[in-house]
Amino acid sequence: MEDKEKLEQITNCAMCANMCKHSCPTYLATGKETITPQKKARLILYEEKAFIKDEQGFFDVMFQCAMCGACKAHCIYDDFDLRRFIQRARSKAFQKDILPNDTAKRMETFRRFGNPHGERQLLEKGTGDVGYFVSCSAYRDQQVPQAMDRIISASKEQVHEFGGADICCGAPLYYAGDTEGFKQAAEKMKEEIEKRKLRKVIVDCPSCLKMMTEVYHDVGVDIDVEFVHTTVFLNGLLREGKLRVNRASATATYHDPCILVNDGGIATAPREILEVLGFKIREPVYSREDTHCCGGLSGAKIGDAEVANKVNLMRIDELKETCADVYLSACPTCKSVLSDVDMKDITEIVADQIIDE
Ligand code: SF4
Ligand code: SF4
Repeated sequence: MEDKEKLEQITNCAMCANMCKHSCPTYLATGKETITPQKKARLILYEEKAFIKDEQGFFDVMFQCAMCGACKAHCIYDDFDLRRFIQRARSKAFQKDILPNDTAKRMETFRRFGNPHGERQLLEKGTGDVGYFVSCSAYRDQQVPQAMDRIISASKEQVHEFGGADICCGAPLYYAGDTEGFKQAAEKMKEEIEKRKLRKVIVDCPSCLKMMTEVYHDVGVDIDVEFVHTTVFLNGLLREGKLRVNRASATATYHDPCILVNDGGIATAPREILEVLGFKIREPVYSREDTHCCGGLSGAKIGDAEVANKVNLMRIDELKETCADVYLSACPTCKSVLSDVDMKDITEIVADQIIDE
């Protein structure tokens, strides 16, 4: 490790009491002590010191992480983020071509089509200098962008919608450790935004938002626009009286997407929307910064599929405990992997309750 400060940080984590493990979804769902944050840090330190004999085993553990940020949120050290070290290890795995099978397949699709899902049409609608980037998972879901269309039309806002084809934020490349590929995706996104002359971009996926507001900068790509998550945009429309909505008389459970709360710091806007819509909120035991990953692995679905499946089942059980009438989230990936509780995106529920003029 070239940097003395980084070596000190990972050593501190490797020697820590590991209490943050009680918030780590991969540990909680599997019960495997070997994949707790502190044990991951210890392996990273051993790898640094060339003590690791089983290279495959080491990289397997690096992909048994949801990259959810719960350990950062509950860390005893300010500004320490274990994920940055896991990310470095994943870059080494990528360079050595030692990736989990599902991740390798996803990378192959990305190389062919410029996105993780395959061949797609370009999506381009509307005008104006406020953009709405339809994330790959929303493009696939279709209902989220359709709900946004209805909201945009009812609010009479000018919004330039774009996505599909090979326009992707690059998060799958990032989480797979393909640093160079990710940088190219970031540069392409910058071009896509600049050629549409946007000053603000609404983003429906928390992971895209994290890439655009934080990780692009780390690879030297800065885009001079304001990025906002859909929930912040919708909350603004409701507060400014730009949407007239019916009030529901039902209970709702909101699942905090891990990246939205741990990296975006957004937990209040979605709850304020639900209150305006008249829902009585039933919080799950683990909510806000105590939320658990849905199993979608930071929205990018990159990592160990078996561990992801266990995390997913654990989160479904936690959500079912509230027995709410409706379950809502603010991430199209959470929506798709939590279909067992009939999860909807908050965008859809806002659109459903619009009173047509
Ligand atoms: S992430 Fe923070 S709290 Fe958790 S083991 Fe490492 S140093 Fe300790
Ligand atoms: S990022 Fe999430 S899954 Fe990974 S070690 Fe930290 S708490 Fe566990």
